[in-house]
Amino acid sequence: AKSEGRDSAQFYSQEMTERAQQRLTMETALRQAADGEGLTLHWQPRVAAGTGALMGVEGLLRWQHPDLGAVSPAQFIPVAEESGLIVPIGAWVIEEACRQIQAWQGAGQLPREVSVNLSALQLRHPGLLDHLRACLQRYAVPQGVLELELTESMLMDSVEANLAVLREIRALGVGLVIDDFGTGYSSLNYLNRFPIDRLKIDRSFVLGMLEDSTHLAVIHAVIGLGHTLGLTVVAEGVETEAQAQALTQARCDELQGYLYGRPMPAQALARWSEDRGA
Ligand code: C2E
Ligand code: CA
Ligand code: CA
Ligand code: CA
Repeated sequence: AKSEGRDSAQFYSQEMTERAQQRLTMETALRQAADGEGLTLHWQPRVAAGTGALMGVEGLLRWQHPDLGAVSPAQFIPVAEESGLIVPIGAWVIEEACRQIQAWQGAGQLPREVSVNLSALQLRHPGLLDHLRACLQRYAVPQGVLELELTESMLMDSVEANLAVLREIRALGVGLVIDDFGTGYSSLNYLNRFPIDRLKIDRSFVLGMLEDSTHLAVIHAVIGLGHTLGLTVVAEGVETEAQAQALTQARCDELQGYLYGRPMPAQALARWSEDRGA
């Protein structure tokens, strides 16, 4: 029994070491990607619930490494956040979005809103506002086009400090979206004070809404709350016509999901728009 215990402890620590090594490998590779090497943004359309018209696009990070291959955000974003590398990577994302906005504008294809995701560490980073200001200017981004998506839990973390930064972001003409709404613990009191434009209902509620009446109830509550606060409400992860219909019936303003389009390179998005006659 004694040796068995030692063996399993050994096995356990071996597994830990392997995992730590994998993490380190990824972190080392990410460090090289921090200047944008191997990174791209894919764009997912967001449409009006009633008409299906293109309302905006969300930029989602893609990473292709020569040895590791294509690594999904679910794998590398947590490593980037824990290591702090999300700050330079996130700065690249913001600049790339602004560069793409300028390219779209030149081609007469600029969507109304172009959002990218922001991590907590970026929001707390003192260089964020200067970087935003510099990018907006360098790529002549029109007011109100660029938007940042932040999660609910991120905002509720240190409300007063966040409020100050959010107001400054807003003053730059950059919009704010609360992502994954319904999964955190928003205080309605604070929600009211945040200078936000839109709520995005988390995919988990959309996924379960037709089977689970509590999910549907949450969706109705979030839409009602959003509208009371004068916000646009969007649902993410819409995959079926039935979900789209139920969400539209519930007065959800905008829809995003595979039903309309997957995240795709800018060129594919242009074809997507043409095909829909948008
Ligand atoms: P998110 O911001 O909630 O993005 C939505 C995720 O759901 C994306 O996954 C998207 O591809 C996926 N999705 C969209 N529609 C559907 C659908 O109909 N069905 C299903 N099953 N999935 C759908 P992705 O691209 O793998 O990104 C995952 C997460 O990684 C994002 O969640 C976001 O939190 C994070 N992320 C991605 N890019 C960035 C970035 O540039 N910066 C930061 N900080 N985080 C990012
Ligand atoms: Ca998002
Ligand atoms: Ca989301
Ligand atoms: Ca999500």
